[in-house]
Amino acid sequence: MQKLPFERPLVQKISAGLPSKFGIQGKLEPITHIDGIPVNSLIEEFGSPVFVISENTIRKTYKEAYRAFASRYPKVQFAWSYKTNYLNAVCSVFHQEGSWAEVVSGFEYDKAIAIGVEPGHIIFNGPDKTIEDLTKAISQGSLIHIDHFDELYDIIDLADRLEERPQVAIRVNMDTGIYPQWDRFGFNYENGEAWDALNRIMVNGNMDLVGLHTHIGTYMMSTDAYRIAATKLVDLAQGLMRKHKHAISYIDMGGGFASRNTLKGAYYPGSDTTPSFDDFAEAITSAFMKSELKPDDLPLLILETGRALIDDAGYLLGTVIANKRLADGRRSTIIDAGVNLLFTAFWYEHDIRPAKAVSDQTEDSTIYGPLCMNIDVIRGNVLFPLLKKGDHYVIKRIGAYNNTQWLQFITLRPNVVMIDTTGTPHIIRKAETLDSLNQHELTPGHLGQFNV
Ligand SMILES: *Cc1c(COP(=O)(O)O)cnc(C)c1O
Repeated sequence: MQKLPFERPLVQKISAGLPSKFGIQGKLEPITHIDGIPVNSLIEEFGSPVFVISENTIRKTYKEAYRAFASRYPKVQFAWSYKTNYLNAVCSVFHQEGSWAEVVSGFEYDKAIAIGVEPGHIIFNGPDKTIEDLTKAISQGSLIHIDHFDELYDIIDLADRLEERPQVAIRVNMDTGIYPQWDRFGFNYENGEAWDALNRIMVNGNMDLVGLHTHIGTYMMSTDAYRIAATKLVDLAQGLMRKHKHAISYIDMGGGFASRNTLKGAYYPGSDTTPSFDDFAEAITSAFMKSELKPDDLPLLILETGRALIDDAGYLLGTVIANKRLADGRRSTIIDAGVNLLFTAFWYEHDIRPAKAVSDQTEDSTIYGPLCMNIDVIRGNVLFPLLKKGDHYVIKRIGAYNNTQWLQFITLRPNVVMIDTTGTPHIIRKAETLDSLNQHELTPGHLGQFNV
């Protein structure tokens, strides 16, 4: 039998309120391998910390989501939400699976074009599309989701000047029973603004009104909100049919499905409470099916699911820097990845695990990142095993938003590695270096010399 590592005994203060109704959380199972590769060897080869993305998990999750919708509705199309994770390799996996691209800026639009997405399969969302962006998107036949009247007027103007027919939809916001309501994007349903915008587009006649769009929120736990949203969009589609004899080609239900991460303050873990893709699909497709739209006129159902498709595929691996006692005697563990890399630590109770088998002993700990910033907390109050300096850890479910919202702050951003379906790791984004960073800086000549 292998000798267990020595851990010094400790006397622990019992804090009231720690156990949930199921008692004190048991042992944290270690994560020793990712897709068959030992965590230790990934860190040895690619550095610490390092992001690791499982291609297998992306494909598996995508297929599960697609099947949930396609088994209930005849015409389904996913569009990958670039801002959720726009590393080219990640986008390419989704595009190989059949996803279109969903972008919210000129930069993201160019990124989708550059990796080879057909322009007609790019959905351009968001409140900030410049005239240059709109010109590009109109001339290439991309799908433009109009956010506000000023944008509508720009498009009317451009259609005239470019002598092209823009392919447009409007984004609609609405009361779905979830508060605060997301009413800053798109045209409101309840006050008639959305219907007004649709009528203007139809009367103008120089655009093709191809769809209706909504994105009701993010990390949505309520399937009913989607049923309500789908019902309201279907109602607009029926209105267009009644008044203008116009059949739209698609209804885009946006993204927002919760991933299985646990929100801060949640009583139960997200893995127990998040609705499944089947639950969301049932709510949305039954609203479509109940409509008066004739079977031939049923629109394509588009989904822009982001976090629920990628969170599980991402891991952050790294090393313990030190342990120390806080003034009140509580244990703190300092790790080498901070909130600059793990932005989602601000709202999730991330699942952080040891990378090797440890004893059952845990202690109420706070896990800090390496930044010289008091807010650099990766996990507050977690019953964590007694890892030592140099031990490795794995943070699960971090694939969404961290590789896009990360900051170059105090430390440089590390390698991102993708493990392919044969178990081979590839660097998909190289670690930043002082040189790569300095490429963007210019120092005026008079500041070129000093003596200190
Ligand atoms: C961010 C965003 C998405 C993806 O949202 P998730 O919550 O990650 O599923 C989809 N559509 C639009 C318009 C977005 O802004």
